[in-house]
Amino acid sequence: MSADRDRYLADMGLPIWVLRQRQALDPTAVKNNKKTWSQLIATVDQCTLCSLHRSRTQTVFGVGRRDADLLIIGEAPGAEEDRKGEPFVGRAGQLLDAMLASVGFIRNDVYIANILKCRPPNNRDPRNEEATACTPYLEQQLSLIQPKVILALGRIAAQWLLQCDTPIGRLRGSVNQFGVQEIPLIVSYHPAYLLRSPLAKAKSWEDLILVKQALRKEK
Ligand code: SF4
Repeated sequence: MSADRDRYLADMGLPIWVLRQRQALDPTAVKNNKKTWSQLIATVDQCTLCSLHRSRTQTVFGVGRRDADLLIIGEAPGAEEDRKGEPFVGRAGQLLDAMLASVGFIRNDVYIANILKCRPPNNRDPRNEEATACTPYLEQQLSLIQPKVILALGRIAAQWLLQCDTPIGRLRGSVNQFGVQEIPLIVSYHPAYLLRSPLAKAKSWEDLILVKQALRKEK
């Protein structure tokens, strides 16, 4: 799968990013490079690198400001996202918007993406091979956006990005470092979890305050 992926990306003229080896993000990547964005969107749109392409309605690339200071990363599209082609819509998306608003962010000012661009059937957890196949797209997005801070929502996104199996309760509440550029990465609960466990909203709000502080520090 990895060789297929590398060949596919090479055919498309896209550089290969390797999360586990913490390969340096390309410092010459230009923000708002429309050609590169278009190329990446088209590549994801046609992607058949893992079996999820068979069951998707459409790919869910990501949405928001292409030069956002804050990049929010979840795990994978759900049913609503698969239908609309946008991450974090429906009740969980509305809650995310409200949480962001509570600390003065608006959705249009951040960039929102998932590790997987296609919906796993029945909202099951992403499989390792799917996340491995799809992660280069996320890293391409990261390279284009060059965010100052990353917010990982949910255990799966957080553990995948930090390459660990530490429980989410221990990952949140402090500032982690992502990649060779050591981008501040803050972990919080997925809004879908908050809908089921509203008492955790207070901790989520604390996490967003931490995001604001990290952003202020990076200015
Ligand atoms: Fe390709 Fe990612 Fe969709 Fe798999 S989940 S088919 S790797 S875009």
